[in-house]
Amino acid sequence: MTIVDSIRPPDFIRNIVREDVRANKNDGRVVTRFPPEPNGYLHIGHAKSICINFGIALENEGGIYHLRFDDTNPSKEDIEYIESIKSDIRWLGFDWGKHLYYASDYFGKLYQYAVQLIKDGKAYVCSLSTEEIRGYRGTLTEPGKNSPYRTRSLEENLDLFERMRAGEFEDGSHVLRAKIDMTSPNLNMRDPVLYRIRHESHHRTHDKWCIYPTYDFAHCLSDSIEGITHSICTLEFENNRPLYDWILNELNVDCHPQQIEFARLNLSYTVMSKRKLLELVEQGYVSGWDDPRMPTISGLRRRGYTPEAIRNFCERIGVAKSNSIVDIALLEHCIREDLNLRAPRVMAVLYPLRVVIDNYPEGRVEELDAQNNPEDPGMGTRKIPFSRVVYIEQDDFRENPPKKFFRLAPGCEVRLKHAYYIKCVRVIKDEGTGKVIELHCRYDPATRGGWSSDGRKVRGTLHWVSAAHALEAEVRLYDHLFIKANPYDVKDGSDFKTNLNPNSLEKLTSCRMEPGLAGARPGSRYQFLRQGYFCVDSVDSREGAPVFNRIVPLRDSWAKIEKAQERGSFSPTIPRSLHS
Ligand code: ATP
Ligand code: MG
Repeated sequence: MTIVDSIRPPDFIRNIVREDVRANKNDGRVVTRFPPEPNGYLHIGHAKSICINFGIALENEGGIYHLRFDDTNPSKEDIEYIESIKSDIRWLGFDWGKHLYYASDYFGKLYQYAVQLIKDGKAYVCSLSTEEIRGYRGTLTEPGKNSPYRTRSLEENLDLFERMRAGEFEDGSHVLRAKIDMTSPNLNMRDPVLYRIRHESHHRTHDKWCIYPTYDFAHCLSDSIEGITHSICTLEFENNRPLYDWILNELNVDCHPQQIEFARLNLSYTVMSKRKLLELVEQGYVSGWDDPRMPTISGLRRRGYTPEAIRNFCERIGVAKSNSIVDIALLEHCIREDLNLRAPRVMAVLYPLRVVIDNYPEGRVEELDAQNNPEDPGMGTRKIPFSRVVYIEQDDFRENPPKKFFRLAPGCEVRLKHAYYIKCVRVIKDEGTGKVIELHCRYDPATRGGWSSDGRKVRGTLHWVSAAHALEAEVRLYDHLFIKANPYDVKDGSDFKTNLNPNSLEKLTSCRMEPGLAGARPGSRYQFLRQGYFCVDSVDSREGAPVFNRIVPLRDSWAKIEKAQERGSFSPTIPRSLHS
């Protein structure tokens, strides 16, 4: 498995790891982990974290990476999420082997550690309410106040903590807190809560526990128990690091991993918080976690993204220490680059316009040769049927063509890809609407294959399909989920959902494509010539009736020119397809 590019320039985390290995810290071992909370599906931000954590382990000889479910919160977690996370990571190309762990497996050990802290006078049972605790905590500018329960005796603390565990108390009546410093400038160090009472069943430990450790208590100790050497996480945990170190120091554990923070991935035109994504799913703004518009791994997979493109994207964005927003165009670039080399080319007409070739013999069918991928001659050729009536794209015809419009127009000649030159001789319109409904053309038999023997040139090459042979299929065109690059940019008080793009999905139900596509398997990807990359939907396709998801449009030079003409200037924005 070659996941990692060996010529990558080292980032600051890799430099730290490299230095540690050189200095023989941890006996030169490198053990990393990815610790998802099973309360949602993984998104592309998690992919970044996975690529960093697992990538660093793979780059170091003997390096090991763990997958650990951080399942310390019984209320929001679910087996469904565990299974989806595993399959998403596997799909991304990583195999944790036997190193699969659950923080809930450590509940017994964590309890013992808590008892030890109490015995050492470093933790106490506090009986303030949640609001009172908040009130006592102080603010960034004001120190906190000691809880009146801070001076409880060792015996009383041990007794109460044991009874908390035994289920004698109601939720919220007591918590276990670390005894650190209520005046610390770091709010995380103001006697943080280590355990709370929750009379809730856990999806793995069921009803064994009614007290659950907090993230801060469980995370550092889980890392330590597993012998993690480098605990790599996102920047929002920077202020938790002193607590991470405090707990491990006070408990004097053998293994004290080093926490290192990096900037989380933010992508333009989408949101990356599981809570927000869950909201979109639960309130029906998308069809599910795997809706092809979602930034989830399962959404991207269904959309047609490849693991290679996602890993490549994660590589290119690099690892930094300051937060920023990555342009989603970079992700789109990565999948185009990958599929350009791999995806077979086919012809599909999304908005069909009927073209009758008047001088082509009725009933005649030719099987024309078409190259599958000009980037890779090894992908061979196929036969496509040509006959008297074909469909072309509505946008490829203009009755009154503007300047620089090199497609079909009355009296103009264009090439039908792999087929013949045709010239438009007559336009049929709907009498009511005035809409063009059919074109009549003449073809030049001397241009078979799309080349003229007399050296006559045409400026436009159109894709087409033979009407009598075409497969009629559904195509789903996707656009960004949000209309603003930063979806959180809202007017006072309104919700990020007001920035949802109402046109993020367009379903086209009567597209016409090459007949060979009737056999396209779910998950297979194609380049529809001149349109973009498409993937057969793995959920809604049926035998012989594939549904296609547009992964990304190709860059469209005409849309760019037209836009620039409209604005009187060249537009530097991301090119879109003709129809979006
Ligand atoms: P979210 O904010 O989306 O709910 P989370 O941090 O709560 O994410 P976890 O399941 O706890 O989700 O994340 C597992 C790991 O993935 C953590 O180490 C976290 O730092 C990392 N991670 C989460 N979001 C991102 C992101 N956008 N970019 C990089 N890493 C991320
Ligand atoms: Mg988290």
